[in-house]
Amino acid sequence: MSDTVKYVLDEKDIPRHWYNIMADLPSPPPPVLHPATHQPVGPDDLAPLFPMAVIQQEVSQEREIEIPEPVREVYRQWRPSPLFRARRLEKMLDTPARIYYKYEGVSPAGSHKPNTAIAQAFYNKQEGVKRITTETGAGQWGSSLALAGSLFGLEIEVFMVKVSFQQKPYRRSFMETFGAKCIASPSDMTEAGRAVLREHPDSTGSLGIAISEAVERAVQRDDTKYALGSVLNHVLLHQTVIGLEAMKQFDLAGDYPDIVIAPTGGGSNFGGITFPFLGEQLRGGRKIDLVAVEPSACPTLTRGKYAYDFGDTAHLTPLVKMHTLGSTYVPPGFHAGGLRYHGMAPLVSHITDLGLVRPRAYQQTECFEAGILFAKAEGIIPAPEANHGVKAAIDEALRCKEEGVSRAILFNLCGHGHFDMQAYRDYLDGKLVDQEYDESEIAMALAGLPSVA
Ligand SMILES: *Cc1c(COP(=O)(O)O)cnc(C)c1O
Repeated sequence: MSDTVKYVLDEKDIPRHWYNIMADLPSPPPPVLHPATHQPVGPDDLAPLFPMAVIQQEVSQEREIEIPEPVREVYRQWRPSPLFRARRLEKMLDTPARIYYKYEGVSPAGSHKPNTAIAQAFYNKQEGVKRITTETGAGQWGSSLALAGSLFGLEIEVFMVKVSFQQKPYRRSFMETFGAKCIASPSDMTEAGRAVLREHPDSTGSLGIAISEAVERAVQRDDTKYALGSVLNHVLLHQTVIGLEAMKQFDLAGDYPDIVIAPTGGGSNFGGITFPFLGEQLRGGRKIDLVAVEPSACPTLTRGKYAYDFGDTAHLTPLVKMHTLGSTYVPPGFHAGGLRYHGMAPLVSHITDLGLVRPRAYQQTECFEAGILFAKAEGIIPAPEANHGVKAAIDEALRCKEEGVSRAILFNLCGHGHFDMQAYRDYLDGKLVDQEYDESEIAMALAGLPSVA
């Protein structure tokens, strides 16, 4: 076998439907609650924030949801994305494992995020929306929505977590190139931002704060809605194109994964690559080992509490049951900005609670070390977030070697690191330090969890 092994699908193999895991779950996830009444939210409660098509997907039980043709048309620019067999990495590790990775860095924004940004922009446009507000952590989501907004003729306003705004000036340039507005959060444009600045003038921001700002702006105007790049059911749904394509590619390879690995920030690329395989398992197919990987400095699934919490800091969002570190928790400013969210997708939390996922956490320096080894073997520099998946895949491959067994390992290489070279600079200069989360700060944030009967 040659060293470059790539499983390429035809354009006609771009999925025609997204896969909805809700249809196959042994029990439904707990309902989303209204922040004031604690009653399950209905479509009308969400209507100021999202287009109706998206709200319907959020609660749908249909197994397959059709991908609109204009969305598939944009997908065609980079989908189907390639699946590679990491032969050179296998040799470097001298492992009997068969390592595969699905590469989402081929999208124009460099990550998996356009899979949902394109779909959300389409539905907003279809329902006459003029402007979408959002937040972004590392800038991947803001970039993806900026791109989607320009393709569908929508104004995009992005609140970018201040620490990333400062660390990643080129992300802002990317967004502005597509005509989006990019504002450092906390900002003085919103009441939520001003409240944080009054108490913490030097606040470096958090996704929770940025969400509050974006939501506040969206509810102020009828022609404006809000978009979220992760966490919600419809976002995970749109990302299932990743796993659906991977299944066809495994058919081509004549193989099937024993282990599927993905980094988890809000859980969307994890859900995207794993749900189609998990659905197969839940319908009586082969059992697979799902590994969700998060940073030790923001250990939502491994150390958080499975409880009802707000999605944002100012408590404007509905209450969702999820693994959470508390909505006021501000994680340290480590480099995998996309993994700094205090909560988790309710669907990912639910299946973790059901024992269907093995979550694990790694420190940032060991992840960069793994990412650099991967780059040398495979020629692709992963995003710092993606390095968490790379690290877990390498560990699993080394475990195969120890145990003398060959397993098929699939991981999602969810983005490239070309916008993250400052992080690599810091790592290469030996300036990157491991950060533990602050136990007392998490305790404080968790003490503030809303009490839900
Ligand atoms: C946003 C992002 C993540 C984290 O978000 P998920 O919803 O957990 O996928 C991970 N990796 C990359 C490259 C991202 O852009």
